[in-house]
Amino acid sequence: MNMDTIAAISTAVGESGIAVIRVSGADAVKATAPLFRSRVDLNEAATHTVNYGHIIDPDTGEVMEESLVTVMKGPRSFTAEDVVEISTHGGIVAVKRVMELLLRRGTIRLAEPGEFTKRAFLNGRIDLTQAEAVMDLIRSKSDRAFSIALKQAEGSLSKKIKVLRHQLIELLAHIEVNIDYPEHDVTEMSNSFIRDQSTEVIGEIAQLLRTASEGKILREGIVTAIVGRPNVGKSSLLNALSQSNKAIVTDIPGTTRDVIEEFVTVKGIPLRLLDTAGIRETSDLVERIGVERSRTALGEADLIMLVLNNAEPLHEDEKELLKQLAGRQMIVILNKTDLPAQLSDEELGELVPEQAIVRMSVAEEKGMDQLEEAIASMFFSGKLESADMTYVSNVRHIALLKQAVRSLEDAIEATESGIPIDIVQIDVRTAWELLGEITGDSAGDSLIDQIFSQFCLGK
Ligand code: GDP
Ligand code: ZN
Repeated sequence: MNMDTIAAISTAVGESGIAVIRVSGADAVKATAPLFRSRVDLNEAATHTVNYGHIIDPDTGEVMEESLVTVMKGPRSFTAEDVVEISTHGGIVAVKRVMELLLRRGTIRLAEPGEFTKRAFLNGRIDLTQAEAVMDLIRSKSDRAFSIALKQAEGSLSKKIKVLRHQLIELLAHIEVNIDYPEHDVTEMSNSFIRDQSTEVIGEIAQLLRTASEGKILREGIVTAIVGRPNVGKSSLLNALSQSNKAIVTDIPGTTRDVIEEFVTVKGIPLRLLDTAGIRETSDLVERIGVERSRTALGEADLIMLVLNNAEPLHEDEKELLKQLAGRQMIVILNKTDLPAQLSDEELGELVPEQAIVRMSVAEEKGMDQLEEAIASMFFSGKLESADMTYVSNVRHIALLKQAVRSLEDAIEATESGIPIDIVQIDVRTAWELLGEITGDSAGDSLIDQIFSQFCLGK
């Protein structure tokens, strides 16, 4: 293992109050000490202390930066190695200066993306699910996605996987005994044991996989298409929901030419809102492209918000759309209720069940609560409040879990068709290895490299 000393800027580059440079490795303290002028010699500093001083150019003695330097000796550090964290003023100039000084001598090199977390993994401080969770924490867009990632970082998924692997090891041990002592006439008992144990593990994995789609939704947001005829108030609704002004609101029909995206959180539920161009036939080329895209967005949406205009009679396009969208997860928004009604409740009632309709006036900020309520109850029915749920939200994990189920199903099938037990053993073993790949217990080097290369620099 090549464990030289590495350094990188660990905070986002750009305007910020402070920036942190992280140094990790055997030489972390020794290589930083000459650059730091302070009452304490860094070489003598106790572990887990924050030291005030100045970063100097050791060649000229010139003071470069006022800094706080934190020393954390391994193994009680993020990487389990000696770690030095230098806090400087934010801004690219200050940070670059300090980085240059650190790298100048050649005892420290620039870290690769994800290398700090990779070291934490290689040094046995965290497992792969936890490392991936660190990455998700960095990227997570909503509070809930954040808490799932946090839970995973704490190892809840790995704990679960370890229990399942343990069950499979017991099964493998049992099979092993049968292979070693074939004269014992226990085949019948053995087959039912294999079947029962495998079925149980399959059940547990299926349980984990059921949380998978919810996990994905939390990470990427519920794809929500706001659709409706021009001028009904789609962009206004999007603005109201996102409280920003990214979409252009106008009085001219058909001005939302393209699909506009906005990521919002409603009652803790992340939505990826798509404001689509008016759905209708058109001869204008630019508008047609917009309409085309909005149809695609409509097809891919998890949730559809169909906006209707209370101040106009129901249009043929809208009746058509309602028919097309039958069976989809949909909320029908009757907007502009501040204006005299032109749209008959009766006609609407025939097409849409009452509970799916939310009456609102975006202009007068009325009905927003009901809309948010409708979204929340529609998707989660309170289910997500359960605090101890282990979510699987990583595509790699989902794929491995599914493969493991397949191997165990193969094992069951094999026992039932009288295939020799040492063949059955291979299937069970495969399942055990696949689960191990989730936690990194049986992950090959190339997989590990691939996972860590997705991290951003300085993590
Ligand atoms: P879109 O074409 O569906 O995106 O519609 P817009 O959001 O651009 O809105 C079209 C027009 O309707 C704008 O002038 C809005 O100010 C107006 N509007 C939006 N919501 C309401 C509402 O609840 N009541 C009234 N009276 N006007 C609204
Ligand atoms: Zn619009």
